[in-house]
Amino acid sequence: MNAVALITGASRGIGRGIALECATLGYDLVINFARHALAAQQTATDCVSAGRAAGKAIRAEICQADIASSADRRKLIQFTKEKLTRLDLLVNNAGVAPEVRADILDASEESFDRLIAINVKGPYFLTQLAANWMIEQRKTVAAPVPFRPKIITISSVSAYAASVNRGDYCVSKAALAMLTPLYAARLAEHGINVYEIRPGVIRTDMTAPVKEKYDTLIAGGLTPINRWGTPEDIGKAVAAIAQDLLPFSTGEVINVDGGFHLRRL
Ligand code: NAP
Repeated sequence: MNAVALITGASRGIGRGIALECATLGYDLVINFARHALAAQQTATDCVSAGRAAGKAIRAEICQADIASSADRRKLIQFTKEKLTRLDLLVNNAGVAPEVRADILDASEESFDRLIAINVKGPYFLTQLAANWMIEQRKTVAAPVPFRPKIITISSVSAYAASVNRGDYCVSKAALAMLTPLYAARLAEHGINVYEIRPGVIRTDMTAPVKEKYDTLIAGGLTPINRWGTPEDIGKAVAAIAQDLLPFSTGEVINVDGGFHLRRL
């Protein structure tokens, strides 16, 4: 029996990169998506191939669920229980940018509510469901694979960097940054470590509409490591945690941003 990882928003972008890394480690996967079933299926197929290339036989199941919906969050956990029977790693990755980048003097309440629902409420309550199941499993699972469950949340440098044309996104990521200290403090007694990974500028569909802007900023020295980040960069950070390489750390923020967060003079 393999360990199991549930990754939200794993059909594309960063979530897909995380899924591929977890596959090479031998995790069975639940690949969640919202709308793009074909992309999710492709990720699942590619994960099975990546696992095989690494000498691991893994399963990858896809599950449609809108993490902003309470019913869908329950469906996602139930799906994981029924298909793969255990949960060793939850990665809260799914998130959205505003549909329109609008000056905070004009931006709409509808966009704000959408981002809070998907980027904050979704992972907050999915973590609650997953954590309760992990606590239950620690009492009941007679696991051939050691059971050291973990929770990782993908936030953003927007948790602290102000972008006045997407204030709703920044507010949602700043709020999301409180999830990790809260659950880390609450779950340590149950042997569950909790981490935040804070990506910088990563090349995905989310950043495609502003590619030229970031090309120019990166060329101008935005980050000490002078390149775009990739989904694989985030996947490798998840892999370090997934391999239990940070056993005496919880509540940590791991910046995967090419050094964007450094103050320089
Ligand atoms: P992306 O390329 O737009 O992919 C978003 C993923 O989330 C897709 O798999 C999408 O599924 C899924 N998703 C969207 N809404 C969902 C919902 N309501 N329920 C379930 N799944 C949903 O985005 P990305 O760049 O990979 O970003 C992933 C995470 O990293 C987000 O939380 C984002 O805020 C964060 N992040 C990104 C960057 C960056 O530069 N790209 C930087 C910092 C942080 P479908 O395919 O079905 O639409």
